[in-house]
Amino acid sequence: MGIRCGKLEIDVVSDGDFWLDGGAMFGVVPRVLWEKVAPPDNLNRIQLGLNCLLVRSDQFTLLVDTGCGDKYSKKEKQIYGFETESLLLSSLGRLGVGPDDVDYVIHTHLHFDHCGGSTRAVEGRLNATFPNARYVVQKEEFRAATHPHERNRASYRKENWEVLNDFRKLLLIEGEVEILPGVRCVPSPGHTEGHQSVLIESSGEKLAFLGDLCPTSAHVPLAWVMGYDLYPVLTLQTRKEFYQRLASEKWLIVFEHNVGQPFGRIVGGEGVHRYEVAEL
Ligand SMILES: [Zn+2]
Repeated sequence: MGIRCGKLEIDVVSDGDFWLDGGAMFGVVPRVLWEKVAPPDNLNRIQLGLNCLLVRSDQFTLLVDTGCGDKYSKKEKQIYGFETESLLLSSLGRLGVGPDDVDYVIHTHLHFDHCGGSTRAVEGRLNATFPNARYVVQKEEFRAATHPHERNRASYRKENWEVLNDFRKLLLIEGEVEILPGVRCVPSPGHTEGHQSVLIESSGEKLAFLGDLCPTSAHVPLAWVMGYDLYPVLTLQTRKEFYQRLASEKWLIVFEHNVGQPFGRIVGGEGVHRYEVAEL
């Protein structure tokens, strides 16, 4: 069901779910604590949603992140527990949005679970899933994705962006940029150096899509930082800056990897830097 943010129409569109190692998802947090909020399966994996954001006005149709997509081997599908096919296009279709309708895609970053749905193979050839869209990425993130090292190589897969670059569909930005009226890309480094979040403000209403700065509502406590983060202390610093504003201004938050309810609000702060999530 859609909600409104001022003049903008907002929907959370799902690409299904997948499964990742619970220990890796919660970093230094002991299992006896995280298993209470995210019960693992017999392979120690926890279930994660793939929530993308659809933002519409009478002038534009914008998507934030595109889920995992479906370009995986049988073995990879088993490891990550992927659906047999990508669900993003059918989720969009139910809202009357076709691939040609999307004007912009903003990527929080280029890990495969955030941009896998941006390209797809048709008759054996890879192409942009949204042929009329500009794909917005921080320049620093694109640099990291195209120059991977041993620690991040598994997350960056060139089949997710190479054709976008070849066909000049990428819009590489630096720093904070208002992409469309009321839609702002704001750097939020830590998970990766070039990670960005999307802050939406319209007629006094405020909605934030934080990406992997805070992947689920269970990750809201400041130190509950993923083991996947390349720069965990930077994540902590970025969180403090973002949370202070998001809590005091009562922003509505969309958690990209929540299973079930994707919305929440971050509450707390007041100098002691303690934050928690208030479910709606
Ligand atoms: Zn992610």
